[in-house]
Amino acid sequence: MKYISTRGSFTNTAHKQTFSQVLLSGLAEDGGLMLPETLPKITEAELTAWRTLPYHALAFNVIAKFVDNTDLPHADLAVMTKAAYTKEVFNTDEITPLTSLQALQPGLMLQHLSNGPTLAFKDMAMQLLGRLFEYELARQNKTLNILGATSGDTGSAAEYAMRGRKGISVFMLSPAGRMSAFQRAQMYSLQDANIHNIAVVGVFDDCQDIVKAVSNDLEFKRKHNIGTVNSINWGRIVAQVVYYVRGYLSATTSNSQKVSFAVPSGNFGNILAGHIAREMGVPIDTLILATNENNVLAEFFQTGVYRPRKSAETFETSSPSMDISKASNFERFVFHLLGCDAERIAALWKEVDRGGSFDLSNTPEFKSVRERFGFVAGTSTHANRLATIRETFQRTNVLIDTHTADAVYVGRAHIKQEIPIIALETALPIKFAATVEEAVGFEPPMTDAQKAMMKLPQQVTTMGLDVNRVKAMIAASL
Ligand SMILES: *Cc1c(COP(=O)(O)O)cnc(C)c1O
Repeated sequence: MKYISTRGSFTNTAHKQTFSQVLLSGLAEDGGLMLPETLPKITEAELTAWRTLPYHALAFNVIAKFVDNTDLPHADLAVMTKAAYTKEVFNTDEITPLTSLQALQPGLMLQHLSNGPTLAFKDMAMQLLGRLFEYELARQNKTLNILGATSGDTGSAAEYAMRGRKGISVFMLSPAGRMSAFQRAQMYSLQDANIHNIAVVGVFDDCQDIVKAVSNDLEFKRKHNIGTVNSINWGRIVAQVVYYVRGYLSATTSNSQKVSFAVPSGNFGNILAGHIAREMGVPIDTLILATNENNVLAEFFQTGVYRPRKSAETFETSSPSMDISKASNFERFVFHLLGCDAERIAALWKEVDRGGSFDLSNTPEFKSVRERFGFVAGTSTHANRLATIRETFQRTNVLIDTHTADAVYVGRAHIKQEIPIIALETALPIKFAATVEEAVGFEPPMTDAQKAMMKLPQQVTTMGLDVNRVKAMIAASL
């Protein structure tokens, strides 16, 4: 299994990249994203045999298709998937159980992806990624300083995955006072020596600017092995493919049946994994993409125009983990849409990187996007979100969070007879308690463990927009 860049590098050379190389790297040097040269397939016989596997074994079988045994020994991969996907970490033996929402909408189900340590779906990939990173760094005799900016879910998932891991430190910037009390408690109560929380007096974009300033100092970056765990990381995408396979197998009894997925997605990370599962041969009918008011992606699938927004045009919504202006993983899908034509991708993203847009509406490829790739899309607003949370609770007694509500709302608009829809639950309601309360009139109840977490001492360094101070903290750490 060799990897190439969406913009052409590594394509016609002897030094194609391997999984373990791609795992620790970000963008390719040509600015593109890394993808397998050809996607592996899942056979009919495999699908049948996998029906009875526990989640960790399914994860091993799916991910092993993307990894050469000579690159990363499969026996070691099996140890890591087994350690990552346990009841201790995800609270259930099934890891991603299904719940019927029949009473709300016949044929609609929920797949729970948010039973991990930070109560959001990013744990699904990050819990494995922490182990893969520790393993690879030890093998390559390297250390890594993970530097990131977060407005919530990504930062906490990264910290819980990396805490206590050898050779890894995490420096996570968050906007002071702008996350919910629950999110603050989750991150700042970690006391591990390798986790560093930095609250910046400013907004999320200020945090992002500091990360960029540190990363643009190439000498500092090299000297201190600065890296990221953002959503373009290929390890995260392959780990996410697994829950689509599991969702399909759990919802069906025979491989002749099809299902559709309704997916809340902002950076195109969540739904890209669904696209890959479908291309590998999982019988997925439709991939229903749900956005919030930041509808860059829905606009593309409805019109063929991809027009990233400026930060100032990005709304703050009540499903904040999808408040994006540019979908970083989208380039990987368009690469497949355009028949793996790296030259065309490079030309299109030259426009995007200059702040422009592109229009594929008159191309045969875009006209085939629904038929060939199964994509449809829709947008959900604050009012839709509130009504969906309320109606779901009234009819099924299931309380959902705001992002999941976007998926349920847009999913319902695309229901077809005979084909069930699995809506992906991407966070628990307690993480977005204020909006859930606005919808149903009460705060989502906390478990005893969550109440105890709220009372733990918190550890965070608060500062202004001080790039040098962040650099000094990193320099002092390893
Ligand atoms: C990150 C996130 C999403 C969207 O994931 P993408 O990778 O942007 O597709 C959806 N819901 C929640 C709760 C998230 O944290």
